[in-house]
Amino acid sequence: MDRCSFCGREKRDTNLLIAGISGHICDSCIEQANSILQEEIKKKSEFDLNQITLLKPGEIKKFLDQYVIGQETAKKYISVAVYNHYKRLMDSERTSRDDVEIEKSNIILVGETGTGKTLLARTIARMLHVPFTIVDATVLTEAGYVGEDIESILTRLLQVADYNVEAAEKGIVFIDELDKIARKGDNPSITRDVSGEGVQQGLLKLLEGSVVNVPPQGGRKHPDQKMIPVNTKNILFICGGAFDGIEKKIGQRLNTKVVGYVASRETNKVNRDNLLQYIAPQDMKAYGLIPEIIGRLPILTYLDPLDRQALRRILTEPKNAIIKQYQRLFEMDHIQLSFDESVLQYIVDKSIEFKLGARGLRSICEAIMIDAMFDMPSQKVDEAKITLRYAKQKIEKADMNRLRVA
Ligand code: ADP
Repeated sequence: MDRCSFCGREKRDTNLLIAGISGHICDSCIEQANSILQEEIKKKSEFDLNQITLLKPGEIKKFLDQYVIGQETAKKYISVAVYNHYKRLMDSERTSRDDVEIEKSNIILVGETGTGKTLLARTIARMLHVPFTIVDATVLTEAGYVGEDIESILTRLLQVADYNVEAAEKGIVFIDELDKIARKGDNPSITRDVSGEGVQQGLLKLLEGSVVNVPPQGGRKHPDQKMIPVNTKNILFICGGAFDGIEKKIGQRLNTKVVGYVASRETNKVNRDNLLQYIAPQDMKAYGLIPEIIGRLPILTYLDPLDRQALRRILTEPKNAIIKQYQRLFEMDHIQLSFDESVLQYIVDKSIEFKLGARGLRSICEAIMIDAMFDMPSQKVDEAKITLRYAKQKIEKADMNRLRVA
């Protein structure tokens, strides 16, 4: 009696049994094998560097331009860093070229909250072919304390890579709110600094490029899980932080340098409104990052504060701009939605007034649009125009305090 060599089913229990040289396979085993095969192919090609066409830095920046307004300097630095990251990976795959080793260039992005740091990271992730994850430094603590161990950063990367260690080792990690692990105060503290310097020391281990034992499930709830060794040598780290108050340190440094006539003439050129553009590694040190960490994050760049013009552009220009999203929603009800220019200016004004930055644009729009979104789908209209009078009326009616904390 012929049987499937895989599942053991007899011929009469199958729809089809195919004979090989020394065995048989049934139709359901073929299907199962095929789905395993497809899954493997998908996994492999998703992170296979040979499958991708390497975008040039200019092309990467163009891609970022579609989603992120302004921030030219940061975009340029990120584009080059990502491009070089790929080149390094490809170079290291070409074995035994031991003459020049390209070192990785981890990045720090400094900029006020809501200026687009996370947006930049997320946008980059859209176009990447390596595993990518965003982690928040505020939850990290030294091992043994409440919070997450530093290694959990890599757990996330492993999960994204479907536990394909080789792929994870080529990934990119965005660490948000790096400033929250700065040492508080200038003196190395005598008391334990659970979330400050200790965490920095831990992070250093990852940045330095060593083999780190990673708990595959993360956390400490699974004490007996088997650790997975991950080599961080080729993982690119991009760190972001607001570094509140760092302008003061930059200002102080710029001032103390000023001695004599020539120097004082130079400081005249300093743009006091945007001191972040002069940021230098020593400011990071003054802020409380340990020098070793700073050394491992050699590319330091900044994001500009968003001015009126930038906020206005954010409303309508990005590929998935807020206003475009409302228009799409209405379009689904066959309503053509438009906004008077004065309404857009008004939204920007309110966002500045409430000190909400780009984050406030959405909540203000929402307050203006909620009634229209409620009523219009059941009305027989094919056009809706939001006027300044209408917008003002809705905002005045809205609970201002709710907007403030939004
Ligand atoms: P950060 O990480 O710097 O605190 P985010 O990137 O989270 O700020 O920005 C918050 C939101 O504001 C984003 O989701 C985006 O909608 C908008 N935004 C901020 N900056 C920009 C920008 N430069 N271009 C387009 N949208 C922006």
